[in-house]
Amino acid sequence: MGDYRYIFGPVPSRRMGLSLGVSPIPQKHCNYSCVYCQLGRTKTKRRRREAYCPAEEILAEANNYLAGNHPLDLVTIVGEGEPTLYSHLGALIKGLKNLTVKPIAVITNGSLLFEETVREELLGADIVLPSLDAHDEDIFKKINRPLSQLSFKQVFQGLKTFSERFKGQLWLETMLVRGLNDGDESLAKFKILLDKLNYDRLYLNIPLRPPAEPWVETPTPKSLEKAVTLLNGMAIDQAITGGFSSGIEDDFAAVASIIKRHPMNQHEIKSFLDKRGCPDDNDIFRKLSHSSKVQIISYKGYKTYRGI
Ligand code: SF4
Repeated sequence: MGDYRYIFGPVPSRRMGLSLGVSPIPQKHCNYSCVYCQLGRTKTKRRRREAYCPAEEILAEANNYLAGNHPLDLVTIVGEGEPTLYSHLGALIKGLKNLTVKPIAVITNGSLLFEETVREELLGADIVLPSLDAHDEDIFKKINRPLSQLSFKQVFQGLKTFSERFKGQLWLETMLVRGLNDGDESLAKFKILLDKLNYDRLYLNIPLRPPAEPWVETPTPKSLEKAVTLLNGMAIDQAITGGFSSGIEDDFAAVASIIKRHPMNQHEIKSFLDKRGCPDDNDIFRKLSHSSKVQIISYKGYKTYRGI
């Protein structure tokens, strides 16, 4: 056990099992400001890729954790923002592959796949999970609210080119938001686009955690079912309730490290603390509610804790 800055969890992933998170990106550095983002709104949309920290620093932490042989299904580069904005992503993927035989996955909004360098770097991963939430320019602007320089045409073309070259598993993820991209017309447009891509799986997601915009609503079960059938996708509509863990010794610091990247509801925190043998859950909840770095949001009958 130790203190970790860049790695977190493992967290249970609805798609992949127990995943050790690696976050090379400072909080909410992104080129989108998706209406459903569980990390809140993007204050400043980032344009350039940056070397936020040396890849060696992240790899040293990962090495330290992996040496403990904790149970794990894969390592996922994900986190507080868009991972492809990290300019040493290629070195990070290569370095992680040298540290573990577990698959290395990257969760990305896919916006920079039109850049050849980004595509080259991602070719080193085992699983890449890009988003495809929009089917045209208008919906792209409404749901992802991208940096003004990004166009849907360019982003989709980048995804298509990558899908033709990538030899690993390409799992697309579409977040369906009621009234924005879940209607019959939208689904028909998605179908046309999907036929142009070479991918292995399509996950259909719905907003389960507090979204950046309070008006965001989940699709009805009927429209989700329609999407699953028409697009031949898999629905991710089960909330996670357990399975979180952390290599950080202090209970409060461990919760804080996870919720910075992955908000948790009160039940998830409680079962996480109980599993670790925390002697006083109430004390941790008290600290969370008094911390200026934690936002508590009531959503769908739960209290959700999010690091800010
Ligand atoms: S959901 Fe992902 S891509 Fe969208 S704003 Fe949040 S971090 Fe960026």
